Amino acid sequence: GEAAIAAMKEAMVTAGRYHYQELGEHRAAIGRSLGLEREQVILGAGSSEVLCAAVHAFTTASRPLIYVEPTFELPISLANALGRNAIPTPPTASYAADVKRMRQEAASAGGGLIYLCNPNNPTSSITPKADIDWLANNLPPNTLALIDEAYIHFSTSPQLASALDHVKAGRNVVVARTFSKIYGMAGLRVGFACAKPELIQQMAPFPAGAISYVGIRAALAALADPRMVPERQARYIRIRADLCKWLDGRGFRYLEPHANFMMIDTRRNVRSVIPAMVERGVAPGRPFPPLDNMLRVTIGTETEMEKFRKVFLEVMKA
Ligand code: PLP
Repeated sequence: GEAAIAAMKEAMVTAGRYHYQELGEHRAAIGRSLGLEREQVILGAGSSEVLCAAVHAFTTASRPLIYVEPTFELPISLANALGRNAIPTPPTASYAADVKRMRQEAASAGGGLIYLCNPNNPTSSITPKADIDWLANNLPPNTLALIDEAYIHFSTSPQLASALDHVKAGRNVVVARTFSKIYGMAGLRVGFACAKPELIQQMAPFPAGAISYVGIRAALAALADPRMVPERQARYIRIRADLCKWLDGRGFRYLEPHANFMMIDTRRNVRSVIPAMVERGVAPGRPFPPLDNMLRVTIGTETEMEKFRKVFLEVMKA
């Protein structure tokens, strides 16, 4: 948005210096936007950095990372690199996280970090509020839930709710958020996590330092614009619904989407579909085993989706 660009121009003038003294105010401003105190917020270079901080702080040789397969792989790669146990769990039939199963894994390990991405990447599916609530209220000893809400703004489903209320209630829940998705600031690298102060303190040593001053100023300017998220949300939901309707009309199945991408069942291995589409100028996502027949399609502009539909039909008919 324009306000963010103006804020960056202004910030660049003094970006030659450190701005550590403003860090507390930046955390407070992010916190205020969600009804939290600064002590409940940690900033990171994208949510990637705070997810990694959580893996560092809350997994150990005996406390594994527990996740749904498939999901966003960054926390799993770090856990593996640190020699921590990473335990996959299968999703439910609707591709929600199986929270009972995840809890069971944590209980039998004597504790752990449950990573749950809601909505999930790459499936675009959600774990219903009731399941998140049950998990947050039934965490075994030495166990934390890390809820990654990178895509939370892309769905208005009544089944979907932020886990921030569990943070406010002081439960062992960490919520990760980012400015990379609906805010469209991926290159600026601004993200944050919310948790009770003692958990924030345990994560604090792991990020490399303060984040970019230019980035945080842009993020705060974007937060101050109340129209931006609802406008983009409405646009994404409309373009995504049009695609779903088009797919319905042609008998293609897909996972009900809640993010800015969706999984379409091509009824054949997508390894044969992807290169044929790329050749025709449309680049879908990579394969996500074990969902070998599912094509991951990012929601773009109306014009881009029109091109997608044309190329997708050509390739499906071939
Ligand atoms: N979480 C999920 C689920 C993602 O898909 C991504 C990026 O694709 C991230 C976190 C990290 O994004 P960033 O570090 O830009 O906030």
